[in-house]
Amino acid sequence: MDKIPVAQITESAEQAVSYVPPEDKFYVRLIEGRFQNLRRMISWPLLILFFALAWIQVDGQPWLFFSFAERKIFLFGWIVSWHDLPIMAGLMIAGACLLFFMAVAWGRVWCGFACPQSIWTWMFIRIEQWAEGKANVRAKNDKLPLTGKRLARRILKHVLWLGAALFTTITFTGYFVPVRELIGDLVTLESSVMTLGWLISMTSLTYLNAGLVREKICLHACPYSRFQGVMFDTHTRTVSYDLNRGEPRRLNRKAAQQTGVQYAEVSSANSSAGSVNSTASSCSSTKQGDCVDCNICVQVCPVGIDIRDGLQAACIDCGACIDACDEVMAKIGKPMGLIRFASEAELAGSSEAKSGLASLLRPKLAGYASVVACSIVAVLFGFMNTLDLLVEVRRDRLQLYTKVDSGTVCNNYYLKVEAFDNGINQVQVSVEGLDNLQLHGQPEINIHTDNAAWRTYRVCTNQAQQPRSEIQFVLSTPDAEVRKKTTFLTSSI
Ligand code: SF4
Ligand code: SF4
Repeated sequence: MDKIPVAQITESAEQAVSYVPPEDKFYVRLIEGRFQNLRRMISWPLLILFFALAWIQVDGQPWLFFSFAERKIFLFGWIVSWHDLPIMAGLMIAGACLLFFMAVAWGRVWCGFACPQSIWTWMFIRIEQWAEGKANVRAKNDKLPLTGKRLARRILKHVLWLGAALFTTITFTGYFVPVRELIGDLVTLESSVMTLGWLISMTSLTYLNAGLVREKICLHACPYSRFQGVMFDTHTRTVSYDLNRGEPRRLNRKAAQQTGVQYAEVSSANSSAGSVNSTASSCSSTKQGDCVDCNICVQVCPVGIDIRDGLQAACIDCGACIDACDEVMAKIGKPMGLIRFASEAELAGSSEAKSGLASLLRPKLAGYASVVACSIVAVLFGFMNTLDLLVEVRRDRLQLYTKVDSGTVCNNYYLKVEAFDNGINQVQVSVEGLDNLQLHGQPEINIHTDNAAWRTYRVCTNQAQQPRSEIQFVLSTPDAEVRKKTTFLTSSI
């Protein structure tokens, strides 16, 4: 590629930079590159899954649905009862440890590439660019009166944002309330006040989060950004600026020459990045860094920071500044990677710096990987042993027993059967534990009509020798049998 003179890059960058707004508001410049492509490859499938799964039904059953009314979770063909929720806890533990693993290995890549907050923010930024133009145009227009075309474009942007937020809310709600009924009720104006309230609140929050508040949520509300700092170590490969290579910046050098200040080679690569400028301007040397101070890495940053100031809590490791800087390096004929995923040890030139697979062979990572593996095994075991039939038996507490004749005693029970397997249609009820037991009540429970309904049973025998005996209700289907113990009383003891 033909080299482009640095002055040309910096001039064009300065034109954009001149539109960089006051500190409280910044305009994100969209960029193309390998990390943007990677984000698309991750975020598009996730978005499609999110918007599609709420609609997919197989054999009349939703594919992913959390039913509060039925106390069931429909999970890709499985039905998980509320009583199997520890499986979900296992999934959450596996997910959390996977996040910790990623944080220690590669920093906040989850935030930059897969977190819904980031995905929606990028979506809203793209809508904004489509409606109101590129970052420098938006910045320039903000200084002009909001009239005519500019006003129309602004209104269009907010309408599109609200539409995207409403669509997101309806889809999300569709995982808890049947989505077709939800939309049907909205169209026929039959939605309850509660549903409408929920939809309005969620839509407003999504609109505010992705459209207006954006990075402030990551910085001030997300706990992950707070504790990631303590998880990083010197081998964590996170988005970093190569201070040794980049400093002193070329434009600074020019400015320095004009003002008579001499520049210096930055002595220590892992010196506090925040002190770059002061370090650079206090020493003297003829070294010229690769950074041309074009500021494009700042303009593309969705959280509005300068990665050259060092690792910052706000950085979500999205890689946008890497793509931007690589493009600049390619244009001036310098090697890519002035900003790259690199560890502190690597940047410091430490002999302990690890790369490739070796960087993953660390005790801390092995610990997280083991917890993830154990949790996944536990979750799989849980799925293989989910509850198909939930049975509850309660004694009648008002009347402990009834003497029918001189030798026969009866006890009353309430029985509830709940099925969590679509293949179960009927459940046979019997009772065991004492000789000559007789069961009075419905011997077969029809799951389609009586699922989770309380039914009354009367158990009698003339063979009970003890004041208190143990009996069992036996609930059977062609594939399963559940036994539930209870007591049979012949006196008040
Ligand atoms: S780090 Fe790269 S993108 Fe950022 S100002 Fe320097 S040359 Fe430009
Ligand atoms: S500094 Fe900004 S652009 Fe670079 S990775 Fe961090 S959040 Fe992304």
